[in-house]
Amino acid sequence: MEISLARLEVAQASRILYAQGVLDAFGHVSRRCTAESGAFLMSRSMAPGLVEVADVLVHNAEGEIADGGANPFLERFIHAGIYRARSDVQAIVHSHCPSVLPFAMVPEVRLRSICHTCGFLNTLGIPFEISQFSGDSSNLLISNGGLGDALARHLGADAVVLMRGHGFTTVGASLQEAVFRAIYTGLAAQVQMAAMQIGQPRYLSAGEAEACDRTTAGQMSRAWELWLTQLNYSPTAAEKG
Ligand SMILES: [Zn+2]
Repeated sequence: MEISLARLEVAQASRILYAQGVLDAFGHVSRRCTAESGAFLMSRSMAPGLVEVADVLVHNAEGEIADGGANPFLERFIHAGIYRARSDVQAIVHSHCPSVLPFAMVPEVRLRSICHTCGFLNTLGIPFEISQFSGDSSNLLISNGGLGDALARHLGADAVVLMRGHGFTTVGASLQEAVFRAIYTGLAAQVQMAAMQIGQPRYLSAGEAEACDRTTAGQMSRAWELWLTQLNYSPTAAEKG
């Protein structure tokens, strides 16, 4: 993919995630520069709903901005750590979505695959506990490479990792898949919370979750095209490359 188109899609992804309520003034999305690259594209530190193509910059494998001069996100090490650990991951979203947060705070209640659009939550583990690495006085942010590596180890081979008192991070084999999973993690949390208000939910079996995940993996472009139409964003011809 041309780098200009890849930058445009990161800008679009940022705006989609803001429009869908997954990101607010905070949170971020990235993608690898190329499928094999350790470097990745991510905006400079700014509100996701305002990202333009020119704000999307190359970060090296350590998470530093190669283009120079711009202010990077404090938590760019989430992305760098996961890309280093997971060659299958092409894109990453980090969110503080309010509907997911309760499941990152109450150890007794696990976020699970509850409906067919969230089969990817099937193997979700317990939240990442940053105090094991930063003590009990940290700001909870993944603010250096060591914490990024620790988060990546906790994620393992999963699609999503919850972060205690903070939010969650999700990965995908494409930018569209990472965006889809971020949005549907938020929706799944809403559904599970509602279901728990009226009784004991019956969750998907492991086999159902895997089958549902395979099916939705083929539906990414439909959702992406819809979400694009809901943006008030008209990049110039030059920005489109
Ligand atoms: Zn964060």
